[in-house]
Amino acid sequence: MRLSYIIFCVLPLVTILRMPAQPLIANEPIDGKPNILFIYSDDHAYQAISAYGSNRNKTPNIDRLANEGMLFQRCLVTNSICGPCRAVILTGKYSHLNGFKNNGNRFDGSQQTFPKLLRKSGYQTAMIGKWHLKTDPTGFDYWKVLPGQGSYYNPDFRTPKGRERITGYCTDVVTDIGLEWLKNKRDTKKPFMLMLQHKAPHRAWNAGPKHLNTFDDVTIPEPETLFDDYDGRQPVIAEQEMTIARHMRPLFDLKIFTAKTKDTNQGQRFFRRMTPEQRKAYYDAYIDENEAFVKAKLTGKEKVKWEYQRYIKDYLRCIQSVDDNVGRVLKYLDESGLAKNTIVIYSSDQGFYLGEHGWYDKRWIFEESLKTPLLVRWPGVTKAKSSNKNVVSNLDLAQTFLEMAGVDQPDDMQGHSLVPLLKGKKIDDWRKTFYYHYYELGVHNVPSHFGVVTEQHKLVRYYRTRKNRKSVDINQWELLDYKKNPTETKNFFDDPNYANVKLELQAELRRLQKHYKVPEISSEFPAK
Ligand code: CA
Repeated sequence: MRLSYIIFCVLPLVTILRMPAQPLIANEPIDGKPNILFIYSDDHAYQAISAYGSNRNKTPNIDRLANEGMLFQRCLVTNSICGPCRAVILTGKYSHLNGFKNNGNRFDGSQQTFPKLLRKSGYQTAMIGKWHLKTDPTGFDYWKVLPGQGSYYNPDFRTPKGRERITGYCTDVVTDIGLEWLKNKRDTKKPFMLMLQHKAPHRAWNAGPKHLNTFDDVTIPEPETLFDDYDGRQPVIAEQEMTIARHMRPLFDLKIFTAKTKDTNQGQRFFRRMTPEQRKAYYDAYIDENEAFVKAKLTGKEKVKWEYQRYIKDYLRCIQSVDDNVGRVLKYLDESGLAKNTIVIYSSDQGFYLGEHGWYDKRWIFEESLKTPLLVRWPGVTKAKSSNKNVVSNLDLAQTFLEMAGVDQPDDMQGHSLVPLLKGKKIDDWRKTFYYHYYELGVHNVPSHFGVVTEQHKLVRYYRTRKNRKSVDINQWELLDYKKNPTETKNFFDDPNYANVKLELQAELRRLQKHYKVPEISSEFPAK
């Protein structure tokens, strides 16, 4: 056999035969740029992810990202509420600069965002699922988003061409649309950045058909502070309206319908969006337990305990669907060969109270709502099973995504790219303190407040609240020591042992407000 025959005919044939069966999808880096897949849920507490040590549930698919990538132990949000967190991620700027301070605002889509910069650099960008910023998405080649909060059952979607209703359970449907875009709708010649954003597990925690009976036979552990009496705290802590005991609506939140009430107007409204099959499955899953609850006439702590179980089980049921669907996406990435060149990020807009302090919801500077999950799998770059303790933030994601894509980070973004941390580098001058600022007044009656967070302490100023439907200026301060008192149930502000710490924290708070260009809140600052 002639040598040239072997080189030109036999060797190529052998090579082809030895190649594993690969789908016809570009899975090599395009111009060396990785794909970015950002999976984002709404109100998913880190306490409900097993990789973060949950004692309530197991999330094997989300955990896979920790097993194959990095888990950030301390990712803090700048303003713990849905819309504002999304605006921070898009812009890399605090709420006072991106203009979206509370859920009543409209996002100014003409401003600079990281998807626009990625798109300009050659990425194909897509936004699917919960958007929650009112105006139409900008900077995306493709978008299909839930209007406002969206619906768990048979959700409507806004698209550039108008509205569309899709039958099914929202978490499954959003994933279906995402997978369809990845498989058939994107331009495979370009790297992609896909934001796949779930409504779940946002209130009112309506479980999907597959998980209506999950957790039926178990008792979920209660948090230590389920019966917090707010003793020794500032008055605003007791004045909030987000307790499981007093601020949950029986039908909407707790799904307490009975054979008698299901056909009332209210009952019909509750079931309205469901198909007859969905309605029957939902009804059957709750009715016996509801009838027994009504008959038992529980009061006091026993009633709260029952309500906690109902709330937490529904919440966790929603999360199990999120986890299943993260699994579907990861499976597709594996099967298509995209996994090796796609960075997968999982996060939630903010944390959430799972009965801590007797609460549901978010908003406060306290740990459960300040801290949000963040897990990143970056094949070939981030070490598997790695864990990071630096103070990172949703403020950092825009710059992180830009650096991942090799795009310059604009000077006016206010975070830090996490890429060096993801590469396992130790950064000595990484931020040690963090500035927090919550604005919204209204639902749940949480006061406007700002504060500084250090490795051990928090100094908080509550500066405005609502009384009798009117906004009232207040000046209440708290100093928390969450190393010494992890449940954050004690205020050390007037404790003489904390006098020096208080001075240091006040100085740092001032420095951070100046650094981040926060407008002056009040001449009363700092506290006397
Ligand atoms: Ca949220």
